[in-house]
Amino acid sequence: MRSIEKDLGCTVVDRRDLTLEGIVIRRDGLERGGDLSAVEGVDVGRPARPVGRKSGPLSPLVSAQMSRMPRARTNPEMRLRRELHRRGLRYRVNHPALPGRPDIAFTKVRLAVFVDGCFWHMCPQHSTMPKNNAEWWAQKLQRNVARDREKDVQLQELGWKVLHAWEHEDPRTVADAVEELVSELRIAHDG
Ligand SMILES: [Zn+2]
Repeated sequence: MRSIEKDLGCTVVDRRDLTLEGIVIRRDGLERGGDLSAVEGVDVGRPARPVGRKSGPLSPLVSAQMSRMPRARTNPEMRLRRELHRRGLRYRVNHPALPGRPDIAFTKVRLAVFVDGCFWHMCPQHSTMPKNNAEWWAQKLQRNVARDREKDVQLQELGWKVLHAWEHEDPRTVADAVEELVSELRIAHDG
């Protein structure tokens, strides 16, 4: 697990080591509502929560900024799911009974995976702060991040490991980390 983190610069969090810096990815809701049922073997969950677009001011500038985010061009979460599925891994999507409704959940080995949007979850590389209504946005985005960490803790308290990846990360690289973790956890689970 350590080596995965080192290789990918990602964060794996578990209850024994809350301070591990790890992967971060998660959908940000910009493209919520897509038809997930097209993906074989995937449980379709409802969109987790309303997004800022509804509750907050979205100036043309902000829209332009968002359109430059990686997510606007592709859907990293979907690409990760497809890659995992291609590798024979099966999982739940947006499991409604789990804190934070993880993007991907391996229930048997209790591994939750989030693909975090760079804008909504303040990726260190791509985070931007809209200039209009800056204070409102700052508070909103910081609340997002704080909520992420709360959900992580809640999952850990339920015995889950939590893996966050950024949407800008190569889905194949993230899939490598997920696959390796699942293997290790299966061994631990069965052994
Ligand atoms: Zn990023």
